[in-house]
Amino acid sequence: MSKDTYFKNGFKSVREEVKQDMEQQFVSETVGELKSNNNIIFRDNVEVHLAKDFGFCWGVERSIAMAYEARSHFPSKKLHITNELIHNPQVNGKLQDMDVNFIPKTGGLDGGKDFSGVGDGDVVILPAFGASIDEMELFDSKNVEIVDTTCPWVSKVWNTVDMHQRKGLTSIIHGKYGHEETVATASFCETYLIVKNMEEAEYVARYIKGEGDRGEFMEKFKMAMSDDFDPDKHLEKLGLANQTTMYKKETRAIGQLFQKAQLSKYGPTDVASHYMEFDTICDATQERQDAIHDLVSTRSSLNLDFILVIGGWDSSNTQHLLEIPLNAGLKAYHINEGGCISPDNKITHRAMDGEIVTEEFMGKGKVVMGVTSGASTPDRAVQDALDRVFLLKKINPDLQ
Ligand code: SF4
Repeated sequence: MSKDTYFKNGFKSVREEVKQDMEQQFVSETVGELKSNNNIIFRDNVEVHLAKDFGFCWGVERSIAMAYEARSHFPSKKLHITNELIHNPQVNGKLQDMDVNFIPKTGGLDGGKDFSGVGDGDVVILPAFGASIDEMELFDSKNVEIVDTTCPWVSKVWNTVDMHQRKGLTSIIHGKYGHEETVATASFCETYLIVKNMEEAEYVARYIKGEGDRGEFMEKFKMAMSDDFDPDKHLEKLGLANQTTMYKKETRAIGQLFQKAQLSKYGPTDVASHYMEFDTICDATQERQDAIHDLVSTRSSLNLDFILVIGGWDSSNTQHLLEIPLNAGLKAYHINEGGCISPDNKITHRAMDGEIVTEEFMGKGKVVMGVTSGASTPDRAVQDALDRVFLLKKINPDLQ
């Protein structure tokens, strides 16, 4: 793409104005108070413990700033985004208010979209989790300007899978095959297989060791493999990559599993040419996961009743933050905005299996809660949720 129509560093001339706008929109007094009080506050009979690391990561802030800057830099042009900029309803709503068009999805799990509304001279913003090579080629063929907000951590994964391909390895991508970031990563690979969890990885490892059924394998991974994938040929030399927001411990365990499988098949002398791994999980994801682990580990000393996890329901990194307390047997609720907590003491939340459920929320008397938020969640959303919790405790006589 020509340098004149491809922007990947934002627009300096409008940076200060956008910075102020973002501060007004996202900064939270309550979160500020928590931070200056050792991450603890007590209000209306609710004790809140905020995770040490939470909320907006560097890549998301950068992506939002670049999108807002694009709007100011191209005030009269038609702007499109290939997908949600990040998985956050408030940020995406704000972009719609700024007259930024979200390219509609055509359904299906392959990331299909309807680009017919993108016309000559328009501006297209690529989100933090990037765009596929097919999309980039399409834009190249149209006369559009590109504002690329892809997070450098995501680009790092692309570089890794590119290196796999050049070395003749099959890229095993630990990710979700319908997720935009994984769709983009897979588009950089000639040969790939996507495994979403340990169960699927164990299935593949058994196949490597000669214990699988080819027909069943092909059926199981039909949506998650490159077109020409042949498990009898393409599992010989493997490289591991991941969707940046996956659960890091699981990526590690999957890596060890494949390394062991290759070791048992090819022996210690040859294993290095049959398995390759680089750490491509971004620090932000890891820090948020560690912080929630820390919070969960103090559950007994703090008498934690539950953990509130705030973030978009489609946000993969937020979903993993929910899994940590739930897997440790601690009650936790994943909500996507404060509005999920209603005045009749009900909470609407996303369960670990993805179902959205509504149930009774808090009990009587003092409540001790932990709180965290995903990497695409502004502090203001945390404040909205906490304000609802405080208000509920204050005004509902059944909860006193
Ligand atoms: S979570 Fe990591 S990879 Fe994703 S936008 Fe943030 S810094 Fe980038």
